[in-house]
Amino acid sequence: MSLQSSIIYTKGDFHPYDSMKVGLLTHALQYGTGCFEGVRGFWNDEQHELFLLDLKEHYDRLAASARILFMTLPHTTDELIQITKELVRRNDFRTNIYLRPFIFKSAEEIGVRLHDVADQFALIAVPFGRYVNVDNGLRVCTSAWRRIDDATTPARAKVTGAYINSALAKSEALLGGFDEAIMLSADGHVSEGSAENIFMVRRGVLYTPDCSQNILEGVTRRTVMELARELGIEVVERAIDRTELFVAEEIFFTGTAIGIEPVASVDHRQIGSGENPITQQLISRYNDAVYGRNPAFATRLTPAYV
Ligand code: PMP
Repeated sequence: MSLQSSIIYTKGDFHPYDSMKVGLLTHALQYGTGCFEGVRGFWNDEQHELFLLDLKEHYDRLAASARILFMTLPHTTDELIQITKELVRRNDFRTNIYLRPFIFKSAEEIGVRLHDVADQFALIAVPFGRYVNVDNGLRVCTSAWRRIDDATTPARAKVTGAYINSALAKSEALLGGFDEAIMLSADGHVSEGSAENIFMVRRGVLYTPDCSQNILEGVTRRTVMELARELGIEVVERAIDRTELFVAEEIFFTGTAIGIEPVASVDHRQIGSGENPITQQLISRYNDAVYGRNPAFATRLTPAYV
């Protein structure tokens, strides 16, 4: 099935993707006034079930982003969960998928502001494979672009326009021969990747930048901290210096799209031995969880077909 013929949800109903258009003067297109989520669904072939991961957390974060942009979602989180299940069924997906719920200022008018502009919610789903096609760890650089600062653009909201920051850093990294970028905050501390949170292991302790480091408060980040604590690994949220990364034993990224992905080098310095025992344990726990193989994690998964 092509994207064009897939079924999407917007304006209170399901429609073919192709039948929905937005005008050239749409506020969100002109000013980046929208917010969105990325959600994954994992197909379990043995159980013939598609597990939607952390729908509640994602829809709650979408509502929080919308609140910051003076928007109100037209549905409650519970309604959105039902709509999402229905969308998956109507598309009859039997593979891993990525869901893109978003709400954007849909008025076709000139005038930059947030209040009193009409908005529209939409939900699109697409089949989705691996986000990065790299084995043996990512080669990463520190970007010359600093991460947006919450004092200029809300960092904890997934704001459409703010992704120019991620795009600048990602293109800089890829065109420079790297796989991904790490962005520092304005004061020089490690913030996150272009669309991932970052963790490092030092002396067996897992560290990640705290929520005041202009990070997006990642859903996967929270899951990984929980899984690590279950494994008896100490987890600390604090500011991280750039050079701490160079001497870390392990570094990995987390995100809905990327999952958990080890970092092989930062700014040409190899990280640790490359064996990544803690990262590998977390990846295996994470995969069991998201594919419905860990009963303790079941409450975080919404089966689409039961
Ligand atoms: N930071 C940014 C800028 C992102 O776009 C994402 C992806 N949503 C993340 C971090 C990771 O967040 P999550 O685990 O919720 O996908």
